[in-house]
Amino acid sequence: MSKLPNTGTTIFTVMSALATAHKAINLSQGFPDFDCSDELKALVNDAMQQGHNQYAPMPGIMPLREAISEKIGKLYGQHVDPDTEITITPGGTYAIFTAIATCIQPGDEVIIFEPAYDSYIPNVLVNGGTPVLIPLSFPDYHINWALVRSKITSHTKMIMLNTPHNPTGTILRAADLQELEKLVAEFNLLVLSDEVYEHLIYDGETHQSILRYPALFRNSFVTFSFGKVFHNTGWKMGYCVAPAHLTQEYRKVHQYLCFSVNTPMQYGLAAFLKKPEHYLSLPAFYQEKRDYFLKLMAQTRFTPLKGQGSYFQLMQYERISQEGDKEFATRMTQEFGVAGIPISAFYQNGKDDHVIRFCFAKKKATLEQAVERLIKM
Ligand code: GLN
Repeated sequence: MSKLPNTGTTIFTVMSALATAHKAINLSQGFPDFDCSDELKALVNDAMQQGHNQYAPMPGIMPLREAISEKIGKLYGQHVDPDTEITITPGGTYAIFTAIATCIQPGDEVIIFEPAYDSYIPNVLVNGGTPVLIPLSFPDYHINWALVRSKITSHTKMIMLNTPHNPTGTILRAADLQELEKLVAEFNLLVLSDEVYEHLIYDGETHQSILRYPALFRNSFVTFSFGKVFHNTGWKMGYCVAPAHLTQEYRKVHQYLCFSVNTPMQYGLAAFLKKPEHYLSLPAFYQEKRDYFLKLMAQTRFTPLKGQGSYFQLMQYERISQEGDKEFATRMTQEFGVAGIPISAFYQNGKDDHVIRFCFAKKKATLEQAVERLIKM
């Protein structure tokens, strides 16, 4: 018996295991190699010492939901009701799965852009839905909205978006959101917007959150991650923002999946969010890393593709080799001691443009050591 007969082990586990086995520098799976803030850790510790160690309320503790609502108001100008429109989740991946489990039934079609983060398609399939795959253009990874329109049928229930985009690092523009708004209104679609990298955005660009568009928000689940932005992916903390009528349904599912999320970390994050500099400083913090990585990589024969968000940088390797990207990524790990992610893993049909994803959420010294090795390729 298998509900997912064609699904293997996630590429992130595969590449991280290969990196460990070969003692390679791991620029594959997306996580920082530096620690999260001491202030944040102290806040969580305080919460534990103060006795916040029992079940949190099912939707999350109110101070954290209030702090999130305040941040959303400040950044995106949208009033979100902390009581009825925000649910704290164990991570962004869970927040996405739960949104799909809330609305997708057998026969429903879900539009997914490829390359697609690797949990999306299995999430839809396990809930009996039908993924409708639409390729992003290459090499700029833009959405062709005319193509999207042509794929909409009477069964289309949801469209999944991701900005800043994993694995490509591209971002959606206001014009994209305007096109989306037209389709959502015309066909009454639901939107699931994965915005886990919301604060990791560069070159003075603005994050085009669904939350900036009140008409879109009425039909949307918008998912976020604390781990991705506050450098603590191991905490598995995130949240889902959706209008009250959708949140009500979301919580019916959430209450029987995990019920609630660990309490002390919620108190710690609530206090941490009170200082806006903790998230306002993130674009500059990560842009410096991206720029440094690009500068170092200019000494290699890799060719960067343009990205303006997330902590991933795509690199084409055609000047080095004509191998398939999985073969190349494996050889790079085994023989040169640097792990990255082959982008074909994010296409159902294995489309291979000879591109590798590198995670630059690393200490300068790690990036330097990695590039010293990549120069030899
Ligand atoms: N989001 C991370 C990445 O893209 C991986 C998380 C995971 O391994 N599930 O690398």
